[in-house]
Amino acid sequence: MTASSSPTTRFAPAPTGRLHLGHLANAIYVWGLARRLGGRVLLRIEDHDRQRCRPEYEAALLDDLDRLGIAADEPATDALRSGPSAYRQSDCGPIYEAALERLGRVTDVYACDCSRATFAAWREANSRPWTGPGCPGGCRARGVERRPGLTVRAALGDGDEGWDDLLLGARSGQVSSDGDLPVRDRSGNWTYAFCVVVDDMRHGVDLVVRGADLTAATPAQIRLARLLGRADRPEFAHHPLIRRPDGSKLSKADGATAVSALLDAGRSREQLFGEVLQRLGLDPSGNPASFEEAVAGIG
Ligand SMILES: [Zn+2]
Repeated sequence: MTASSSPTTRFAPAPTGRLHLGHLANAIYVWGLARRLGGRVLLRIEDHDRQRCRPEYEAALLDDLDRLGIAADEPATDALRSGPSAYRQSDCGPIYEAALERLGRVTDVYACDCSRATFAAWREANSRPWTGPGCPGGCRARGVERRPGLTVRAALGDGDEGWDDLLLGARSGQVSSDGDLPVRDRSGNWTYAFCVVVDDMRHGVDLVVRGADLTAATPAQIRLARLLGRADRPEFAHHPLIRRPDGSKLSKADGATAVSALLDAGRSREQLFGEVLQRLGLDPSGNPASFEEAVAGIG
């Protein structure tokens, strides 16, 4: 593994449900790589989706981290409990507004009135799914008026971006495979991709450790960062996801894997870390492990 020394990385859950075993898998990789490379970990609350995120989920998430004994270098959970924070996306609207304005000076940022039906009609007419750049309704050329209820997209251009993934090796992909990047959705929410790129820049995050389900989102984020003026390129490490016994993806809807429910039922945190290591294939024994023991096996 090659990586810059002393990187800054982040653990960045979205408070759309309870902390579950999938979060613990991510935490083990985030802290594991940070420890191995002599780096530090930021905690960031990714509540950009104002319809799905809830304050009570954030409160529970902070409590769960404390119960597990998982602490970021910055900020402390109490700092987030005490009020507005630069590490909570919903407190940072003006920062995203300013970034969007900056982006609009170097590329087209435009309203898109395409609906699912527009994409479906294009697929029907062309016998294949829509691929970018642009959008199937040609909204950039039509100059659709910006108004509430419409997606806002940024033209990131064509071509590929590649990176040397710390866990997957050399990767590359199309920047606009799904069309020009939405930066704001129809409900007015800043999008995940836009927020994380802006946040990683302003927080000095130079190592992004996340699940392999986000690998395909990376080329657009590399391009977006460059257009926003980021001079360096963060390193990426995409790790395996833990799955249900039937092989399907674990989600927040899996109440049975909620950390708080498992701890309340009498499982120890060491048992939970051991189970996650087993489900990741990192320790077949499933023996209980402390968080420090769990993260020591990464890299
Ligand atoms: Zn459109």
